Amino acid sequence: MNKKETMQIMEVPEELRHKPWIDDGEEVPGDCGKCGGCNWESGTVWLIAKNTTDLEKRFNEHHTGLCGECMTRMISDTGWAIDMPD
Ligand SMILES: [Zn+2]
Repeated sequence: MNKKETMQIMEVPEELRHKPWIDDGEEVPGDCGKCGGCNWESGTVWLIAKNTTDLEKRFNEHHTGLCGECMTRMISDTGWAIDMPD
């Protein structure tokens, strides 16, 4: 049986969204909040991560997050379970 891991839905901080990155030797300007799912400029994007360090790591791999609509769709389509806070 797989061990369950607790993850959180976390907002990608603005300073991370605006951070430029290097792609094939070229500096790419930081995205200002485009969703990696629908490409809509939502201004707020979300990732599922263990903590802020993990959030940064995941963002640096994909340079994007998902808008609320796409995050909800992904959670719904993939059967994630959400534990209610105490
Ligand atoms: Zn989206």
